[in-house]
Amino acid sequence: MKKIQMVDLVGQYEEIKGQVNSSMQQVLETAAFINGPEVHAFQKELENYLGVKHVIPCANGTDALQICMMGLDLKPGDEVITADFTFAATVEVIALLQLTPVLVDVEVDTFNIDIKAIEKAITPKTKAIVPVHLFGQCANMDAIMEIAEKHNLYVIEDNAQGIGATHTFKDGKKAKSGTIGHVASTSFFPSKNLGCYGDGGAIFTNDDDLAHIIRGIVNHGMYERYHHDVVGVNSRLDSLQATVLRAKLPRLDSYNAKRRATARKYNEAFKNQRDIILPKTVNGCDGICEVCDCHVFHQYTLRILREKRDRLVQHLNENAVPCGVYYPIPLHLQKAYQDNRYNEADFKVTNQLVKEVISLPMHTELDDEQINFITKLVIDCVKKNE
Ligand SMILES: *Cc1c(COP(=O)(O)O)cnc(C)c1O
Repeated sequence: MKKIQMVDLVGQYEEIKGQVNSSMQQVLETAAFINGPEVHAFQKELENYLGVKHVIPCANGTDALQICMMGLDLKPGDEVITADFTFAATVEVIALLQLTPVLVDVEVDTFNIDIKAIEKAITPKTKAIVPVHLFGQCANMDAIMEIAEKHNLYVIEDNAQGIGATHTFKDGKKAKSGTIGHVASTSFFPSKNLGCYGDGGAIFTNDDDLAHIIRGIVNHGMYERYHHDVVGVNSRLDSLQATVLRAKLPRLDSYNAKRRATARKYNEAFKNQRDIILPKTVNGCDGICEVCDCHVFHQYTLRILREKRDRLVQHLNENAVPCGVYYPIPLHLQKAYQDNRYNEADFKVTNQLVKEVISLPMHTELDDEQINFITKLVIDCVKKNE
């Protein structure tokens, strides 16, 4: 059996090697490293794929989020609501811009931001909501857009984990994740569903004026050469990274289908286990169907009940199977983001999830032998002392 990895980027590279190597070679020979034709072409191709008017490439997903907030002209003291259960980048940029992060609880079954908790957290100072499409499934965007409209708030989608996912609205209409709110950010970090071979990110929006503002912000606040109208940043995707993304984008749907197929196999193996709760897919389909891409499984995350999670982590590690605990500490308990306005009782679900979640290996190269090996280990361990 091939060694099991959390993410296997080498195996994936083998398949696109010819194309990536020759297009990288061409960039080297033309020295168009920054803002070259590859970046421009990728931007257009991603706009087409997503069905969004504007893609603005930038240096990474954290910058992308920060630039979204700068573009919306959020001001120090403005409150921004986001999930307590996410990667720290989301809350980091809110704090960095001296906005006030307002962390709220998530749903126990989807791990996504809880709608009632959002409503409860809204004050006259609230300016924006940042739903994170955690682990590859859209947050409840119908409800979030309704709340935003009612309270006149911006919605910034953190789509770092959700690229390629489709959201089905209550009325049956569909949209790609990251094209629903006012603006969205994504990351092309190597292990993301669409990853490059270094850092990369992008911002999406259908708003022409906002796109114009953001194009200046990513380039030192310049709209005309050497005229700096606003305070900007330097954040760009380089041409070498764009060549990788151009090779992978046409394969993104098949990569995501492969992830879903793996998730289905995991689900099938674990479905009758008393102490294992399967990841729940909502929105448009029941279970993980063949045709629907409501969940693109950036992570395949189980809940392990009755305090058996830590033992399972150890058991997998002892058998050379990598796994992850995303995330082990709620953001509201992190030193950097503590706030005495928070009330522990408001984070019941996150406090529970950090003790129960485990993410299994998930990538495009897992084969059945590896999947069977993993599922057997998991079941053996959670069955013990039943
Ligand atoms: C990866 C990630 C980011 C940050 O992306 P980088 O490209 O690493 O800066 C932001 N938010 C979420 C939810 C992520 O998973």
